[in-house]
Amino acid sequence: MDQSSMFRAIPGVDETKQRLIDYDGSFAACPRESLRCLITAYWDRQRARIRAGELTDPCELALALHLPGLSQFLKSHLAPQLKKVINATGVVVHTNLGRSVLSEAAQAAVALAAGGYCNLELDLKRGSRGSRYALVEELLQSLTGAEAALVVNNNAAAVMLMLDTFCRGYEVIVSRGELVEIGGSFRIPAVMAKSGALLREVGATNRTHLADYAEAIGERTKALMRVHTSNFRVVGFHARVELAELAELAHANHLLLLEDLGSGSLMRFEQTGLPDEPTVQETIAQGADLVSFSGDKVLGGPQAGIIVGKAELIAQMKSNQLTRALRCDKLCYAALEATLRAYREPIRAREEIPTLRRILFSAKELKERACALQKTLSASLGERFDITLKEDVSRVGGGAFPQYDLPTWLVCLKPGDISASALKMALLSTDPPMLGRLEGEAFCLDPRTLDGADEALLVAVLRQAWDKAHSAQ
Ligand SMILES: *Cc1c(COP(=O)(O)O)cnc(C)c1O
Repeated sequence: MDQSSMFRAIPGVDETKQRLIDYDGSFAACPRESLRCLITAYWDRQRARIRAGELTDPCELALALHLPGLSQFLKSHLAPQLKKVINATGVVVHTNLGRSVLSEAAQAAVALAAGGYCNLELDLKRGSRGSRYALVEELLQSLTGAEAALVVNNNAAAVMLMLDTFCRGYEVIVSRGELVEIGGSFRIPAVMAKSGALLREVGATNRTHLADYAEAIGERTKALMRVHTSNFRVVGFHARVELAELAELAHANHLLLLEDLGSGSLMRFEQTGLPDEPTVQETIAQGADLVSFSGDKVLGGPQAGIIVGKAELIAQMKSNQLTRALRCDKLCYAALEATLRAYREPIRAREEIPTLRRILFSAKELKERACALQKTLSASLGERFDITLKEDVSRVGGGAFPQYDLPTWLVCLKPGDISASALKMALLSTDPPMLGRLEGEAFCLDPRTLDGADEALLVAVLRQAWDKAHSAQ
């Protein structure tokens, strides 16, 4: 059959629509225009396949054959594209899954700001225009001990803003051991180039000494910069200069000391066996002039880049035109303020902020959760899966504490006659989708990130995936 006869064999939109509603009554409630547009788009795809020579058999265009595929195409396009995903990976700050889950207080604050007007830029004492930058500044001052603070869109923006404001056309000295690439192609050398600052690299990949920095200081030097190595770890023969020593060197030479802390934290995690990394407040106390960190990594708040440090420097950044382009909206401020407020009482922060709570779960608590989950799943899905427990580790994620293990217990599912990887794929299109871990022949759920998850929903999702994987066989 030639192509033009094939095109003519494609049924009309109205006919398709009627047959579709007969096939699945739920489409009757869909907005007509969206349905028409999507049906047209669906047949356009088939036309493209005809043109490409992929579709040559006219029988393949029979509407009846297309109804299941069409129905799925429409459903996936009519549903919101951003949707809930169940995180069973155990990675607490999972960048692909939106990083931190907000505390209840932060969720409520976002809902309040989203659903009405607010004083984002209104000074309620004077009744005149206020500044959004002032909203969380006092909180950040008291939590970090810094003189001033500024919040921008994310930490990448914060680093860019520091360099653009102070170092454009000047040299910035960075250790070769810290020229990192974060996920999503954020590379320190490239960010520097973009900001107009000139990178002066010193030291070796594994070792940099104070003398390396001192020898590199010249006429054009404006700052020393430290970058948290985030997503990798150097083990063995290595050395890094203490921050206090770098601060002394920088200030004796009238230079700035900038620190990109990456994740950054207001809290230590010593009891978890994670490395004892300096907090934001300690970094300030040791003499960094400006410190930047993310709002949605270990801090546990919304996406944001927080800069704290010397008042005079923060003031200069506030008047940089670039700051206007990098500013946050009311939803971000609402969530950030509520998150930071919890930190005024560290015990409360540990309980209320999901990111902290999940990092701090003990192996004992996780074993109890894993046992309870194993029981529930066995009761409803025991015929489909072989379900066992396994001692393992989870990761913080988000480039924080790389390669450090948090002890956990996994619930491992072996789905009998289908493979664990087929189950994993099937779980991407369940409602809601679920991401877990493949460990050899088993698909595993880590209870660390299932905190608060609805067990009945987990059962339903696993059942859906099992059925899907079987019908695809
Ligand atoms: C994560 C990270 C960034 C980027 O932070 P975002 O908030 O994702 O923009 C920058 N620097 C370091 C060291 C990081 O770890």
